[in-house]
Amino acid sequence: MQAFFRAQQPIDLHLHSSLSDGTDSPTEVVRAAHAAGVRTMALTDHDLTSGWAEAAAECQRLDMTFIGGMELTTRGVNGGGIHLLAYLVDPTDAALTAACAEVLAARVPRLQEMTQRLSADYAISWDDVLEQSGGDSIGRPHLASAMIARGHVETVGEFFDRIVHKESKYYIPSPGIPIIEAIALVRGAGGVPITAHPTGRGVPGHMMPREMMVRLKEIGLGGFELDHRENANNPQGLARLREYAREFDLIVTGSSDYHGGRKPNRPGENTTSPEMLMRIIDESTGSAPVYSAQDPSTA
Ligand code: AMP
Ligand code: ZN
Ligand code: FE
Ligand code: FE
Repeated sequence: MQAFFRAQQPIDLHLHSSLSDGTDSPTEVVRAAHAAGVRTMALTDHDLTSGWAEAAAECQRLDMTFIGGMELTTRGVNGGGIHLLAYLVDPTDAALTAACAEVLAARVPRLQEMTQRLSADYAISWDDVLEQSGGDSIGRPHLASAMIARGHVETVGEFFDRIVHKESKYYIPSPGIPIIEAIALVRGAGGVPITAHPTGRGVPGHMMPREMMVRLKEIGLGGFELDHRENANNPQGLARLREYAREFDLIVTGSSDYHGGRKPNRPGENTTSPEMLMRIIDESTGSAPVYSAQDPSTA
């Protein structure tokens, strides 16, 4: 098996399709990953798994290995937003799908309210935003695209930096499952929970307290996505998480967080080692990877 994953590198475990806030269909995401040289990939749309079948089918055509994933919107104990990657969950698990449905439903009034607030200062309507969303998972990136289409900003980055950043009067925090509950939900669905870009969005210089690390490990946190371009925002916090990862024997991943045209991140710009992917597969019981046509048991 190990030899198989060596042959199936590079491994990129965090990519988004237009079913959430990427701009490519699941098929196009797989093609973009393949063109960048990626040979094993996970589709990790926000709070939904509906792209798995299409992405897995395209992976089969391109002789790539597919890992089912999702990125859950959760809230930390201090109320801050935390993204939790969930790998190889059972996508039909009742508790997990109910929690996701609630989060997805709550995104709609949130976006409507943000659009309403923006419309006081910019010509923009709810229909403009809906036009940008290709699925059930709507978020600020769709609002960003609507603002670009209306000519108010030039790039998604400018929208996030200048207009709807977290301190702006237009911003409303996204609804999320409390992190402790989310980790338990993912384990309950047979999946492996890994915090996405853990030092990318918080306060620069913030260090996770040791008691928190102990608690998260007890509840079942599997690991951290440490190789991600946004983690560079907090080098001290990142160094601390690397120490914790060694001490608590956590899984460490690296991934691109590709969003098509909505982010500069390119497939394969950060990668996960075969050893770490094997650990994810070994710890999961919810679903299995869809291996490339090559049979892993004979490799
Ligand atoms: P929301 O949950 O609706 O607040 O939107 C969060 C999404 O916006 C995440 O999936 C990020 O990928 C994306 N995002 C956050 N900051 C930026 C940024 N500076 N540029 C582009 N996309 C961003
Ligand atoms: Zn996203
Ligand atoms: Fe994220
Ligand atoms: Fe993401």
